[in-house]
Amino acid sequence: MPARFTHALAGLLAITGFIALILGFYFSSQSPTVPAAAPEKKVAATIFPLYDIVRQIAGERVQVRLIVPPGGSPHTYEPTPSDLRAIRRASAVYAIGHGLDDWAASLAAAEPGLTRVVVDENITLLPPTVPFSDGATDEEAADFDPHYFLDDANGRLIAANIAADLSRRFPEDAAYFDARRQEFDAQMEETGRQIRNLLASVKNRHIIAMHDAWYYFSRAYGLTVDGSFEPSAGREPTPQYLAALGAAVKKAGVRTIYSEQQVSSAALESFARDYNLNIAVLDPESGRPGLDSYSALLIYNASVIAQNQ
Ligand SMILES: [Zn+2]
Repeated sequence: MPARFTHALAGLLAITGFIALILGFYFSSQSPTVPAAAPEKKVAATIFPLYDIVRQIAGERVQVRLIVPPGGSPHTYEPTPSDLRAIRRASAVYAIGHGLDDWAASLAAAEPGLTRVVVDENITLLPPTVPFSDGATDEEAADFDPHYFLDDANGRLIAANIAADLSRRFPEDAAYFDARRQEFDAQMEETGRQIRNLLASVKNRHIIAMHDAWYYFSRAYGLTVDGSFEPSAGREPTPQYLAALGAAVKKAGVRTIYSEQQVSSAALESFARDYNLNIAVLDPESGRPGLDSYSALLIYNASVIAQNQ
């Protein structure tokens, strides 16, 4: 039993009035020498894929909090008071940026010492792709398509950006972060190989999706997105828009429309019936049981597409 504990225990028994004081001293004075269950170093990440990359680099050295719960959509997410509690004393909130999770900026503003870090450095961003318009002008249209995390090569760049940022914040752990980043790189190389294998025999390489999340994924793995059901994330299609989408479906010769885990398929169903399409479900963000890693998420999407084309 550590000497300090014995002292604390003696104090506790002898001078009951000082219990709180002594225990407070005991817990605060022991933290540097005892491996802490919850490290003092703390960061947060907005969406699951990013959270998983951060925790793989941070390992046991930094506490990482996820903000959007599995099954939630970052596009429509609004931070809650419990998010504010969860990020208390965090040093960074890692974000995708470009309109996907811009609410992270207000979280950062609410917590002193917390900075928002957009993880897109060195990543070639694509402009938003609009195969056909619904005629509405989207005043909140982002400068770039924010779904760059749906590509294993970009995942590696994200990991490098996170490792660099963590190392600046916690320089004593820099070598640890770098070793973990190298492991992550190797894992991503294997993930990329698996995805290309899964998609190698797919003949029809055109896909129609729920929302405009799949342009990076398609570019990385040799697919083409011919249109999305939602004109932009969270926006309902007009009848004219759906007619244009129907024409794209026929031209592409597809038999499946891809819905997503984060949204209800109900709106999609009558369109799918009209054009004789199966509905399969992709998952751009996940974190749900069975898909609880970034790598598993990418592979899952590739396997759904491979089975439904
Ligand atoms: Zn999205």
